[in-house]
Amino acid sequence: MVRRKGSKRMSLKRWLDGSMVLENPASHADFCEFVAEWQVTETLAAKAMALGCRFTEGGGFALRIISGGRTCEQQNRLRAAGRPAASCARSTHVLEGGRLATGFDIATPTGVGPPGSPSADLVWRTIGALAQLEGLRWGGGSDILVSGVPTDPNHFDLGPREVTG
Ligand SMILES: [Zn+2]
Repeated sequence: MVRRKGSKRMSLKRWLDGSMVLENPASHADFCEFVAEWQVTETLAAKAMALGCRFTEGGGFALRIISGGRTCEQQNRLRAAGRPAASCARSTHVLEGGRLATGFDIATPTGVGPPGSPSADLVWRTIGALAQLEGLRWGGGSDILVSGVPTDPNHFDLGPREVTG
């Protein structure tokens, strides 16, 4: 766990890869720090943290956010690299005109791995179900596989841009 200079009192846990554990913030300052760090709306931040708490309380490991807001340029780079990434106009990650992100991605959980095996799919479906209880959309509208897992399982958002703006 690493803490940035000037954020000595921040209690949010950051991993060396830059990801941050989704858990209840210890203070309002931590919550604000999270929002600023990931450039997400307060509504999304609260739901993301609640998802992490629900999953951990249910016996799961820590969920970690790896991506929130992005510029259109960053989004296009991901698309060019073949990553599942919507156009800038549709992406819930993209920041434009003062817009904050309404979508975020989590790290593929260590020890679980990507979907594709029955045991991994079970964990992913649990995360997805808990996310939906928080009012989050799982998979960002990507296709749903026979296993019930979307093709972009690491992604969660507040719904399509047509709805959220
Ligand atoms: Zn995403």
